Amino acid sequence: MKIEAKKRFGQNFLKDSAVLERIIQSMPKSDRVVVEIGPGLGDLTQKLLKTKDVIAFEIDRDLCHLLGQKFHKQIQEGRLKLVCADVLDHWDKSLADQEYDLIANLPYYVATNIVLKALEDPKCKNILVMLQKEVADKFSARPKEREFSSLSVLAQSSGEAKRLFIVQPDSFTPPPKVDSAVLLIQKKRNLEDKKFMQFLKIAFKQPRKTLIKNLAQEYPKELLDQIFGQLGLKPTIRPHEATTSIYHRLYEMLKETIDGKKRQNRDNPDAAASHAK
Ligand code: SAM
Repeated sequence: MKIEAKKRFGQNFLKDSAVLERIIQSMPKSDRVVVEIGPGLGDLTQKLLKTKDVIAFEIDRDLCHLLGQKFHKQIQEGRLKLVCADVLDHWDKSLADQEYDLIANLPYYVATNIVLKALEDPKCKNILVMLQKEVADKFSARPKEREFSSLSVLAQSSGEAKRLFIVQPDSFTPPPKVDSAVLLIQKKRNLEDKKFMQFLKIAFKQPRKTLIKNLAQEYPKELLDQIFGQLGLKPTIRPHEATTSIYHRLYEMLKETIDGKKRQNRDNPDAAASHAK
């Protein structure tokens, strides 16, 4: 069967064996099973199967059929589990019922979403993925770098993120329009608090504005002035200049004060009503 790359599924097949080998060399040492999202024509899968058991999710039925034939033996032996479906339909809390490392050349149209889900997934221990270079930079940037973003804070809150190497478009068939990069996140904990993620969205909403201006769109300005003072933060600080630990402190202090006020109002509604007049 002749396979044409389908744009809607983000299909750019990695054909450069030197790059495939570098991905394999970069795998964190572990005995865990590998989850691969989007095995495509199976080039990376083949290399992974030399040392690992693999669970692979592929959305494209044509490719799935081809993979079923190509890896018939490994599927029979139970070394490869091939799931022919949209990976996002299978991802509730965890993508697998055992601990795993995610290793994949991701479809770029959902790559950010997939990495965020993997950061939340308690069974996922390491993430080694190829994605758009720009997105890899956002996940791996350090404070004060131009690319430092909510994604950097989330990755650093979960573990250590590093951009390992850049891959040029001509390593793929068909070549993508952008440069790619391999990103490694070694997780130490899982992201759990959805509200923290929403808080970061607000903090980085307009990256060129000051942090306090962004936050003031959601939180009372007097409270922010007070907390910035307590933390010794200049009111001119921009979102990319604060560190990950500052974001956690800010969030905790805002939450404590706001939750405390809500509790007070609930316990003493009369006082709250007269205050509001
Ligand atoms: N791993 C192959 C390689 O390195 O050549 C293919 C990578 S290609 C960039 C992305 C792959 O992800 C394609 O095979 C595509 O069909 C698959 N894919 C896209 N969206 C998906 C989804 N939501 N769930 C599972 N697979 C998906």
